[in-house]
Amino acid sequence: MSQHLSQEIKDFARSLGFDPVKIVRAEKLSDAGSYYESWLAKGYGADMEYLKKDSEKRYTPEKMLPGAKSIIMLGLNYYKKDKEFGENFRIAKYAQGRDYHKVITAKLKKFGKFLEEISGTPHSHFTPLSKSYVDFGPVMERAYAQKASLGFIGKNACVITREYGSFMFLSEIITTLDLTPDEPTKWQGKCGSCTRCVDICPTRAIKPDRTIDSNLCIAYLTIENRGAIPEELRPKIGNWLFGCDLCQDVCPHNVRAKPTHVEDFQSIPVAQQNLSLAQILSIETDDEFTHLFAGTPIMRAKRRGLIRNACVVAGNLKLLDLLPQLRKLAQSDDAMIAEHAQWSIEAITTSTSSPRPPSSHSHSEPL
Ligand code: SF4
Ligand code: SF4
Repeated sequence: MSQHLSQEIKDFARSLGFDPVKIVRAEKLSDAGSYYESWLAKGYGADMEYLKKDSEKRYTPEKMLPGAKSIIMLGLNYYKKDKEFGENFRIAKYAQGRDYHKVITAKLKKFGKFLEEISGTPHSHFTPLSKSYVDFGPVMERAYAQKASLGFIGKNACVITREYGSFMFLSEIITTLDLTPDEPTKWQGKCGSCTRCVDICPTRAIKPDRTIDSNLCIAYLTIENRGAIPEELRPKIGNWLFGCDLCQDVCPHNVRAKPTHVEDFQSIPVAQQNLSLAQILSIETDDEFTHLFAGTPIMRAKRRGLIRNACVVAGNLKLLDLLPQLRKLAQSDDAMIAEHAQWSIEAITTSTSSPRPPSSHSHSEPL
């Protein structure tokens, strides 16, 4: 396959906003596979059962797409300055804009059509030319990204790119096209003796082998986790309402982070702009929740997960003015919400340090 076609594909990727873009051979990554299986065996995937299903597929492209020859690895920068949510809480950067799955999937669909056009291969459900994935697994796409020299995997388990640091969505297109792979770049990147991410992680979730124990990670606990947050971890969550960026915020490689050009990631969905903890604690129905968060990654936590998280943050911040709402939630028919609300009330009222008095901003006003 010609170098020319590979270049055309990269140019198209960049026209869709992807950067960096790399091409790598679709080979089985046995080392990454063993690493992944051992990560699962240690229980670090917590209760995310989908990670265990057909695990071999994740590092064997041939099992995902028969005849796979190349993988086009794509990065999409989402960095932006954090949205201020007053003194109350923080939301991970990636979740402050539109749902990246929707944004990237739309781009990948265009990409699939483009590949059919330029290769002259019509689409068939029986012999597809390509398959694309966003956020496919915890190891595979990172391992392929590293193999493609798109970046290196840091101690915080993130892929760190030379161009933008680590605030980057990864996606990939596996294709039967035989494209010219990129040569390894001179820039290898490394952590060296730095341990900033390990040191700052409040729950000690970062393991020495560059993996994350999801059972301890605030991102898992506040997003994917459907049950109670273990009591001993609640104080460590601080004011993270959804996700956690600490191990990326401290990374020295992120001095290279530049604001994203993707409008969908720049803007804060309107309903969230004036969001307050009080507002979250008073969401009574799934419809209200959907009205506030439709089209954003926050949908993933679901209503009861987000209220659970809001109870923890309110307790950690000792927000006295939220006590009436927390007392109401402590009577909830939902045992998980009731228990977290009760925990929060106790954290506010029996803490050794003084509870924080009502702020000058009324909790009914957006902060
Ligand atoms: S996201 Fe937060 S909790 Fe998870 S590993 Fe990073 S610093 Fe630790
Ligand atoms: S903070 Fe330091 S140790 Fe952690 S990923 Fe960045 S460079 Fe590596």
